Amino acid sequence: MAEVIIDTYQCSGCETCVEICPDVFYIDEVTEKAGLVSPSPYITDALRQAAAFCPEKCIAILE
Ligand code: SF4
Repeated sequence: MAEVIIDTYQCSGCETCVEICPDVFYIDEVTEKAGLVSPSPYITDALRQAAAFCPEKCIAILE
């Protein structure tokens, strides 16, 4: 498992991470920012892709 950190200040709420990896990310309806379904998810290709494709580069994976 890894720790995933979202810089919610930088997050634009674009939902790219949710589309790629809905097991880990969701959009908070109140803040309209990305949040974590689980703070310590297993590392998957989808998780890595979500971080790579985040346009704001605000997803960090700490292994
Ligand atoms: S892809 Fe990045 S900017 Fe877009 S909602 Fe997810 S964390 Fe926020």
